Amino acid sequence: MIKTDVLIVGAGPVGIFVVHQLGLIGLKAEVVDNLDKIGGQCIELYPDKPIYDIPALPVCTGESLTNNLLEQVKNFKTNFHLNERVQEISKEENNWRIKTSGKKIFIAPNIIIAAGVGSFEPRKFSVKEAEKFENNGVFYSIKDKTYFKNKKVCIFGGGDSALDWAIELSKFAEVTLIHRRDEFRGAEHSAITAKQLAKEGKLKIKTPFQINSIEGDSKVTGIIIKSEKGEIEKITTDCVLGFFGLIMKLGPIAEWGLNLDKKTIPVNTANFQTNKEGIFAIGDICSYPGKLKLILSGFHEGALAARACFKLARPNEKYRFEFTTTSKTLQERLGVKKSD
Ligand SMILES: Cc1cc2nc3c(=O)[nH]c(=O)nc-3n(C[C@H](O)[C@H](O)[C@H](O)COP(=O)(O)OP(=O)(O)OC[C@H]3O[C@@H](n4cnc5c(N)ncnc54)[C@H](O)[C@@H]3O)c2cc1C
Repeated sequence: MIKTDVLIVGAGPVGIFVVHQLGLIGLKAEVVDNLDKIGGQCIELYPDKPIYDIPALPVCTGESLTNNLLEQVKNFKTNFHLNERVQEISKEENNWRIKTSGKKIFIAPNIIIAAGVGSFEPRKFSVKEAEKFENNGVFYSIKDKTYFKNKKVCIFGGGDSALDWAIELSKFAEVTLIHRRDEFRGAEHSAITAKQLAKEGKLKIKTPFQINSIEGDSKVTGIIIKSEKGEIEKITTDCVLGFFGLIMKLGPIAEWGLNLDKKTIPVNTANFQTNKEGIFAIGDICSYPGKLKLILSGFHEGALAARACFKLARPNEKYRFEFTTTSKTLQERLGVKKSD
């Protein structure tokens, strides 16, 4: 059980920056994200694309913005709990009890929801057997590539992830890359590399084929694939990997008794509190008249929500407004050395 001042749902740019705002005023935070990496949409959807409207940064990329934000919070030594979805919340005296998909429990007087457009979830196989074998032969992401060493692996998809993993795993596994079209959507040079490896017999490519069924009792033993013309083929395999992109789901947040407006959470713009005391929403997920789904708006929203968290985390203390330029306390919290 982890006790903290604030539990942050979402490690997108807004979730990271609010760690800074909380740290400045002396509050401790823990961050949970469903993804396997920090950065939200910036990292998942456009790591290499330029962003031109972050104040005082004429240009940065999704990745460099994330790295800079992490650099700015490093002195707070915040824990980021990745691959964990915040699942349930319940009230326990003056605290919230928060449970994740990985069964971690957090106790905190405040929750800041910075969940963007919801949690990113992989698009899954539609065949019924896929659910039974999920994480036991059927996978939608790779946490440890050595798991696939010397195994027979079937990879489905036509984008960058499918191509990159087919090329990578073909170094030490028996890989078949299967796609429903003849053309791949991923980077041209990756498609060329995959086709070259197929020519050299280092990997197999099957197009245009889709999955028809998965075979096996306690573990995956094979798959049946079907072409548009109705041709059927059986492939013996140990693992089936699906890389069909991600969908965004509001997911469990919809069950927490919060007022919702379509897929957003209405907030009071004085402090970004939702209809529940101690639960705040900032960034793309919150809504109010005039809301702009921009990173810079999320930063402002986080600054106000952080100050509001102070009241519940330190009920007997008075919050003092200070500037980082002149406050020794804030500079110490930031780890500024005297010579800086
Ligand atoms: C292609 C593209 C270009 C863009 N360009 C710009 C631009 O130039 N300038 C600009 O200002 N904005 C831009 N945006 C918008 C910007 O990316 C978003 O406004 C910003 O990412 C919102 O940040 P956030 O932290 O609120 O949410 P997100 O970045 O969406 O992060 C939310 C995180 O919360 C996690 N999460 C959700 N639910 C849960 C849960 N239950 N448990 C655990 N984790 C959860 C998600 O996995 C995700 O990682 C662009 C967006 C796109 C798609």
